[in-house]
Amino acid sequence: MNLLRKLPKIDKIVINPLFKGLNPSRLAQIAREKIDKLRANILAKNIENFDNEDLLKDIKYSYDKLFEPSLKPLINATGVILHTNMGRSLISEHILGESSKIITNYSNLEYNQEKGCRGERYEHVSKHLKNLLHVEDVLVVNNNASAVFLILNTFAKNKEVIVSRGELVEIGGSFRIPEVMSQSGALLHEVGATNKTNKNDYKNAINENSAMLMKVHQSNFSIEGFSDDTNYADIKTLCVDNNLIDYYDLGSGYIPELPYNLGKNEPSLQTILKDDPSLISFSGDKLFGSVQAGIIAGKKELIDKLKKNQLLRMLRVDKITLSILEETIKAYLKEDYKSIPTLWMLFQSEESLHIRVSNIQKEVGESTCNVIKSKTVMGGGTLPNREFPTVALHVKGKATTLERSFRKNNIIGRIENDMFLIDFRSILPEFEKQIINTIKEIIK
Ligand SMILES: *Cc1c(COP(=O)(O)O)cnc(C)c1O
Repeated sequence: MNLLRKLPKIDKIVINPLFKGLNPSRLAQIAREKIDKLRANILAKNIENFDNEDLLKDIKYSYDKLFEPSLKPLINATGVILHTNMGRSLISEHILGESSKIITNYSNLEYNQEKGCRGERYEHVSKHLKNLLHVEDVLVVNNNASAVFLILNTFAKNKEVIVSRGELVEIGGSFRIPEVMSQSGALLHEVGATNKTNKNDYKNAINENSAMLMKVHQSNFSIEGFSDDTNYADIKTLCVDNNLIDYYDLGSGYIPELPYNLGKNEPSLQTILKDDPSLISFSGDKLFGSVQAGIIAGKKELIDKLKKNQLLRMLRVDKITLSILEETIKAYLKEDYKSIPTLWMLFQSEESLHIRVSNIQKEVGESTCNVIKSKTVMGGGTLPNREFPTVALHVKGKATTLERSFRKNNIIGRIENDMFLIDFRSILPEFEKQIINTIKEIIK
């Protein structure tokens, strides 16, 4: 029982100099748990003694552990720019700096300053996007998955949506077009074959319960060989003739022409908009290179109807999203692509990448690494099977061991032909110093 009396008092622990500057309530909570456990062990005669110093150290350790960040920055050295597991698109310091003025202040988010009355949340972004895309109206929701859901629920509840069998895709994270459709209340009417769907397949499927013809970007796969799909202009014509809504779920939308011939069979937003689609939607954080959002663009009359759906309230975006999106769109209007890291990384020439990697090789020593020319992909369910050139640093040594060591040091590389590679396609120059230091540390 002597041992029980030796247990320190919580209020004494909290004021111990070891814990100076720490939050007393969190400390007390941790200390209480530790002491309760100790007391139970003493009573159960599981322990015969304990050390007070060790107990204090243990409390400090648990306290520090509690405040270890869960989300932390990583260096994406995989070469895959839109790595969904690592956060897809990056936001530049410049854009974040501009939007922080909105985030850290009250704003006119839903306030019409001129009239002194309630304003429209979606107006800020739509004003700029209308300029950029030349569409009648725009609406922004939480992500493209919610855009698809909102559109189907608004226009096709208990009605048929005609989709090609080649476009019933699963995006990843178990987002499947057929399942989203059934959850939204829309009825899927599949047409055509996996590899071919023509205009007549759509035409023959139209009936009195049809509401919409929907085209879905295949996103993360491609059908090669004997395959064909129906072009959007034909889908649009069928919709006009039959008084139906046409909708294109693009997945990823992009503005400037893509380098490395990546734009082949992957039309830009401007090209798609030439067919005058009634509605399109795309992700804010894929090739568009901004924040997570679902951007819907098209006919004002239809977007007005979307705005009246109660669901919109549940899919509503915050000022954080809207302000970052507004700044990204402004960067597009200025053609300031260096403020959009996704584009900056994609547009880096092979030559300039080679120079960067060679400089790093010189810095860490040619005996420890080689400069390797390789291929990468965009990722994020965009540009399926389209490879483009990249340059990587091959760190010599056992690839699996190196991969693990670098991963522990927050650098996520990739293994190719038994070589551990640090691919600089997806690395911004400001991280080069950290990479050099880590290589030197690990090689030592
Ligand atoms: C990525 C994608 C989605 C989902 O978009 P999120 O922004 O990830 O919600 C929907 N449809 C297609 C075709 C896609 O490629």
